[in-house]
Amino acid sequence: MKIIFFGPPGSGKGTQAKLLANELNILHLSTGDILREKLSDGDSLSIKLKKVMSSGNLVSDEILNQIIANKLMSEECGNGFILDGYPRTISQSDFLVSFFKSNSLILDVIFNFKIDFKLVEERIMLRSKQEQRSDDNINVIKTRLDNFIEETYPVSKFFSENYSQNFFTIDASQEVSKIQKELINITKKGH
Ligand code: AMP
Repeated sequence: MKIIFFGPPGSGKGTQAKLLANELNILHLSTGDILREKLSDGDSLSIKLKKVMSSGNLVSDEILNQIIANKLMSEECGNGFILDGYPRTISQSDFLVSFFKSNSLILDVIFNFKIDFKLVEERIMLRSKQEQRSDDNINVIKTRLDNFIEETYPVSKFFSENYSQNFFTIDASQEVSKIQKELINITKKGH
């Protein structure tokens, strides 16, 4: 099964993607996690990445598309995958759609996490204390949300219009267990 998760930072999509990937026995492919792992490499790329990520801005499309192309062709993805945090720009989305086409892959489900931005800010501040993520402070949140609205919102709109049968909007203000049940129900209904 091949699934995409859309949603602003702090919408809980990472938590839900992890839970659903376990349930369906498919790979949870979080580009944020992959990039954070690279930060410890200590090479010149990691220094550049750190600068961009801690400011709340987006890493270049070339880097992301390369990461995704490598991952999607690896055996880890044999059973299927959840894309969490990608595509985030129209250019990434174009790349993904043509990658699916040329490799005869079919997208099964798209989840769009919807949540009030005030709630998102509160959640991110809490996560910042718990996980000590350098990109989770109030100064950076605004940049991250602005990027979401400007760059990623048009991508989710594209998928809602072009894959409307497989596109599900989720009320992300609900409890974790409630959302989890909803996602499992939808994915197990033959989509
Ligand atoms: P996340 O954990 O998904 O919020 O990602 C953390 C940071 O990694 C983002 O703020 C971006 O700097 C970078 N990042 C993750 N995914 C992408 C992507 N698809 N395109 C560009 N930058 C990304």
